[in-house]
Parts: sequence; structure tokens; C-alpha cells
Amino acid sequence: MKKRICLIHTGGTIGMVKGENGYSPKEGYLESVLNKMDDLKSPEMPDISFYEMSPLLDSSDMAVEDWNRIGKEIAKRYDSYDGFVILHGTDTMAYTAAALSFMLENSNKPIILTGSQIPLCEIRSDGQDNLITSLLIAGSGKVNEVCLYFGGRLLRGNRATKMSADGLLAFDSPNCPRLAEAGISIRYLPYTPPKIDTGAPFSLCLLENVPIGVLKIFPGISFPIFDTLMTEKLKGIVLETFGAGNIPGEGHTLLPIIKKAFLAGSVVTVCSQCPQGTVTLGAYATSSPLVEAGAVSGFDMTTEAAVAKLYYLFSKDYPSEKIKELMETDMRGELTK
Ligand code: ASP
Repeated sequence: MKKRICLIHTGGTIGMVKGENGYSPKEGYLESVLNKMDDLKSPEMPDISFYEMSPLLDSSDMAVEDWNRIGKEIAKRYDSYDGFVILHGTDTMAYTAAALSFMLENSNKPIILTGSQIPLCEIRSDGQDNLITSLLIAGSGKVNEVCLYFGGRLLRGNRATKMSADGLLAFDSPNCPRLAEAGISIRYLPYTPPKIDTGAPFSLCLLENVPIGVLKIFPGISFPIFDTLMTEKLKGIVLETFGAGNIPGEGHTLLPIIKKAFLAGSVVTVCSQCPQGTVTLGAYATSSPLVEAGAVSGFDMTTEAAVAKLYYLFSKDYPSEKIKELMETDMRGELTK
């Protein structure tokens, strides 16, 4: 029996058309293009149902409530389909993929985000392959988790990051092997799926718009400027540190701020500015005090995944001690310890 795949259009370049102010999504346009695509009617394709969200968004406009809207559309149809392909802008696709991987609890179906760098209406669009291959992968039922497909690469959603603003191989997952590669054929690579509680039913966890911040460390940073922000305004903070988790020698000015933030119920997670490799707190004298101050290691998590995970864990209303513990725990394949 043919697999049933629901194709959900959220916006992004793939379905954009050029207007006076540049490219923007146009309601109804993508469906009219899809109706003319013969490949979608090929016997190899799964049965596809199309749903267009409203309003369609440039993904740079996406916020937590939009992740909730997408999550609700998936949850409503979860039992009626074998998988989902989500058309999405590339700019924040990795954030949405990470967020969905946490929000869709106990999901064991393919949920693949894709889009394009060149709109489908333009010559040389990469949208056609990204769309068709995503549908084939979703229909194969071989990879049952939230993924991102782009430029021939199938990546774990919460490990993906946008690597290029203008290249067609725009995404990769430097800390996690690709799940599949599409060349002449689609080659599924051996991988360990994220652990799920197979006895528990699928459920959707809606996210709350808790105040989360990302602070990128740079030479010369003056930490006291961020004191009020970190201790009074933000609940979750991702520190993008140098290398394996290092902060400048003047780090002693940061430590009391981290302590104060933790006592106020905030969680500071240490990630790396390097796209590849892991944070190892304590490897250098410049990182050891972070742990003592109450920060947690994000290990090899992307900033996108750390941000989404903080939203998720705060939305679960866990006490900050538990959030700290879970930030360092592999929940959906988002980190390697
Ligand atoms: N700004 C667009 C978006 O993220 C870029 C894209 O889709 O490639 O929606």
C-alpha cells in the first residue's frame, strides 16, 4: 500500500515570487506549481496531501508561536499520515527542526523539513530536488525522526545548521553523521535513532515564549554590561564560548554573574563557537570555573538545538536543577557526551 505523506507549506524561498520589495511568499502559488509537476504523479511517489499554512512566512519572521502552529498542524494529522514533509525557509529551518524534535514527543514517523535557496519559479531552482527527494525519503519510512533534507543530504534535525547563505549545499551536521545521501540513488547510512519510549503515545508539547538569550563571547567583552540581562531578564542563556568552552582570562567578572543568574532560576549552557567538536569544561583553566559557577555543558550541541531545548525544558515547568541535568542529557540525539 502506498504511504500517505502530508506536505505542509509554511513559507520560505521555495514558494516565493518576486515583488516590488524582493521575494516574498504568495498564498496559493505553490499549490498551483505543484499541480503542474508531473514527477509528483509518478508511481514511485507516495500519496501526497497538501496543506498551506496562513500566513505564509519568511522564516526569519518565525517565532515560538509559529513553531506551536506547525506542531499543532502535525499533531492534528499525526494518526492519518505515515510521514510529513514541511516546506520552510532556510534561514531558521535548523531552529524549527530542533524545536519540533523536542515538541513532538514519542514521535516515530518521518518528519522532514526542506526548502530551497532559489525559488521554484526561477530557472536552476534547487527546490524541485529538495521537495521530491524529501517526499521519497518520507515515503520510504526508513528514517523515523525529525530530519532536514537539503542539497542531497539528510540530516538529523536537531544537529543541522545552515552553513552557507548562498550555496546550494546549504546545511550540514558537523557533529553527527548524515542519515542519508542522495546521489544517483538514495543511500541510507547506518545510524542510531534517538531513544523513544515506544510504549508512550505521541503527544505535542507546546512551547512558551520564555526569555532566552544567546551571548557570543569575543575578545575584549565586558561582562558587567550583561549583568542585568543575565540575572534579571533571561531564563535560559546559551554562552557561545571559544573552542572547547573557554572564556577570556577576565572570566572572573562573568562567574559571579552566572552564580547570580542560577540562584535567580536561570540556566546558563556553554556551547562552542566552533561548528565542529565538543565543549569539555575543565580542560583549560579558562573553562573550569564555569562549572563551579553553575553553568552546564552543552557538549557538541548546536546553538540552535540548545536554544530550542531551553524553550522546551522551561515550557515543561521543571525546576532549574532538573533543567540543568537535562541540558546535559541526550534526549533526542541532539548531543554526544
Ligand atoms: N529568507 C528566506 C527564509 O528563510 C530564505 C530561504 O528560504 O532560503 O524564509
